[in-house]
Amino acid sequence: MAVFDTSFHQTMPPTSFLYSIPYEYYERHKIRKYGFHGTSHRYVMSRAAELMGRPAENFRLISCHIGNGVSVTAIRYGESYDTSMGLTPLAGVTMGTRSGNLDPAVIPYLEQLEGLESDEVMRVLNHHSGLLGISGVSNDIRDLLKLSKEGHHRSQLAIELFVSKLHQYIGLYMARLNGTDGIIFTAGVGENSPEIRELICQGLEYAGVFLDAYANWLGKEDRIISTAYSPVKVMVIPTDEEIVMARDAYQIVITDQTRSLGILETAG
Ligand code: AMP
Repeated sequence: MAVFDTSFHQTMPPTSFLYSIPYEYYERHKIRKYGFHGTSHRYVMSRAAELMGRPAENFRLISCHIGNGVSVTAIRYGESYDTSMGLTPLAGVTMGTRSGNLDPAVIPYLEQLEGLESDEVMRVLNHHSGLLGISGVSNDIRDLLKLSKEGHHRSQLAIELFVSKLHQYIGLYMARLNGTDGIIFTAGVGENSPEIRELICQGLEYAGVFLDAYANWLGKEDRIISTAYSPVKVMVIPTDEEIVMARDAYQIVITDQTRSLGILETAG
């Protein structure tokens, strides 16, 4: 059985998934945004709804999967509405070693100036960019936080850039969703770094985001880390992609068995 990491994003409207290039390329080659981390975004959406006490269909949520790969998803009433990754996982925010968005004209320019083939440029953008490329030392946030406290300028710059891109996507998706009821942090950095969560939420007070410092810094489990009066609930939810895959597989097996026993058909 295969569970596609893109399937959660199939509900995106054309205004989210189309690129502004000739429409024929979409028709001919299906060049469009597909999005990734769908299994993770789907899982944390369900858990967030449980924490907020009502089904996901009631909420607009912004889910931030921040690990070595990073993606942000705007979830509108239980469905993916927009997401930061694209045709490939290279798009969107700054990641551990991936560049995220950049002006596409940078690519031929780099080829020309550095004498690189296009596959070499792709290798640079996928494996030598992001936190690693900017800092020059590591793609691990733990190293960069430590080094920046010791005065390593490029580590500090890498963290600032990383946080700034996530901050921008939250603002973008607040606009796409006409506001948000909740922001979710998940994956390696999102679950484990109160410092990064705090930096991302700084300057979102105007939009109703008020972190509870105590809840942010303490605890390991699924929890709300915004204050009781914060209009936007901020949540930390350890992701669990395996359980989603297991449930999907179970659902398919059960449906298959029911069908082969003729139960579905007799039930009309
Ligand atoms: P993932 O791709 O979800 O496995 O996340 C991996 C990334 O999580 C690593 O590259 C680290 O940067 C980050 N990470 C893991 N543990 C911590 C932690 N305790 N504090 C900050 N970042 C962490």
